[in-house]
Amino acid sequence: MADVRQGGCRCGKVRFEVSDEPILTVACHCTGCQRMSASAFSLSEGYSSDAFQITAGTPVIGGIHGPTRHYHCDYCKSWLYTEPDAIEGFVNVRSTMFDEPRPERPFVNVFVSESLPWARTGAAHSYDKLPAMEEWPTLIGAFAQRDRAWSKEEFNP
Ligand SMILES: [Zn+2]
Ligand SMILES: [Zn+2]
Repeated sequence: MADVRQGGCRCGKVRFEVSDEPILTVACHCTGCQRMSASAFSLSEGYSSDAFQITAGTPVIGGIHGPTRHYHCDYCKSWLYTEPDAIEGFVNVRSTMFDEPRPERPFVNVFVSESLPWARTGAAHSYDKLPAMEEWPTLIGAFAQRDRAWSKEEFNP
């Protein structure tokens, strides 16, 4: 059983915890994430919904109020996590909301076609848009088998 890891929003009214290892870590460079994050890309750690729980406060829907649900703190508006459309039982938690962010760089870049030209992460896999649906299990398997030293290697974009 993995250690429980805790996190929360900027103001601390919403707190959450995860009780398992992430399934996959992703940097999304799409222009939507650039706006939502006020930065060059969003960082996600994917977890089973069973491993994720809110421990304080009540997150509200933000961003584009569409089928993919983006959850924010109602007070400080931090973008905390996302429940993707059409993927049941899965939640993408923003990596920098954890009290102690993991030191590993993201494993997969998506929407690199929309990235700012200087924004590079050194992720092991990169996609212009999204991987095809059937590629996700392969990426998840590769993430589980990864050599954790790779993320600490020198990276020259
Ligand atoms: Zn807050
Ligand atoms: Zn995005």
